[in-house]
Amino acid sequence: MLSKVGMWDFDIFLFDRLTNVMVQEDYHSQNPYHNAVHAADVTQAMHCYLKEPKLANFLTPLDIMLGLLAAAAHDVDHPGVNQPFLIKTKHHLASLYQNVSVLENHHWRSTIGMLRESRLLAHLPKEERQDIEQQLGSLILATDINRQNEFLIRLKTHLKNQDLKLEDAPDRHFMLQVLKPKGKSKIALKCADICNPCRLWEMSKQWSERVCEEFYRQGDMEQKFDLEISPLCNQQKDTIPSIQIGFMTYIVEPLFEEWANFTGNTPLSENMLNHLRRNKTKWRSLLHKQHSSSSSRSTDHSVQKTENEEQTLNEGGTL
Ligand SMILES: [Zn+2]
Repeated sequence: MLSKVGMWDFDIFLFDRLTNVMVQEDYHSQNPYHNAVHAADVTQAMHCYLKEPKLANFLTPLDIMLGLLAAAAHDVDHPGVNQPFLIKTKHHLASLYQNVSVLENHHWRSTIGMLRESRLLAHLPKEERQDIEQQLGSLILATDINRQNEFLIRLKTHLKNQDLKLEDAPDRHFMLQVLKPKGKSKIALKCADICNPCRLWEMSKQWSERVCEEFYRQGDMEQKFDLEISPLCNQQKDTIPSIQIGFMTYIVEPLFEEWANFTGNTPLSENMLNHLRRNKTKWRSLLHKQHSSSSSRSTDHSVQKTENEEQTLNEGGTL
C-alpha cells in the first residue's frame, strides 16, 4: 500500500481503513469532511506535488518538511463549521482573530502548540524555530479560500513574466504557498487542499458528499437556532451537483490550469485536469437528471445558482 503513495490514483479511504493513524487525535472524527482523512488526503496530494520536477529540483529538505507538515496540520481542530458561522454566533475564535482568517489562524496556532509540545524542533536555535513557525503560518493561512484570487493573480503574473526564480527561497515558498520571502509551496498546498475534484470519480464523489453533508449540518444548526442559513448550507436548495459545478468552475479549474502551466503539463497535471473535466461532466449530467425529474418546477433555480456561485463560494467556502 505504502509503495503506491506516490501515485495520483492512490485510494486514501483504503489507506484510512488500513492504518487508522496520522495526526488523528487533534482532528474531529465526527466531522464528515474536515477530519483526519482529509488531512491525510491533502498530505498525500502534497507529496505528489513536491515530486513534480519543476519543484523537486529546487526544494530543500526543510521546504519538504514544511510542506508536508503544513499539509498534515492545515485543518487541525476544525470545528466543522465555517468562518461566517463562527462570526455570527460570536464564537471566541472569531473575536480572538478579529474575524480574519479565523479558522486558518486557529489551525496554525494549534499546530505551533503541538510542535512546541513535541519538542521536535527543540534542538534548533530560537531564530530558526521562529522562522519555521512563521513559514508554517504563511502556508496554512494561504489555504483560506477567501484569498484564492489573490494567489491566482500572483501566480498568473509570475508565469506571464516568467520571473519565478526557484533557486530563491522566497519564490520556492510562494509555490509551496505563494507569497513573500521564503515561499514557493503555498500554491502546492492550496492545490492539495482543493484537489478532490481532480481525483478518480469514485473518490471525488465521496469527498463531494462529505463536504456537502458538513455544509448541511451547519445549515440545520442555523435553522435550529433561527439564524439565516449560510450560502451552500441549505439542503433543500443547494444540491450537491450544483455546489460542485460552481466550485469546480470558479475555484478549482482556474487554479489547476495555472498549476499545469507552472509544472509544464506533466502526466500528473494532465491526469488531474482530465479527472476534473470528466467529473464535471458527471455532475452536469446528474444536475440535468435532477432537473428533468423535478420538471414540475417552472424556474431553474439550480442553474441560475451556479452562475452566482463564485461569489457564494468565496463568501462561504472554507476547505
Ligand atoms: Zn483543508
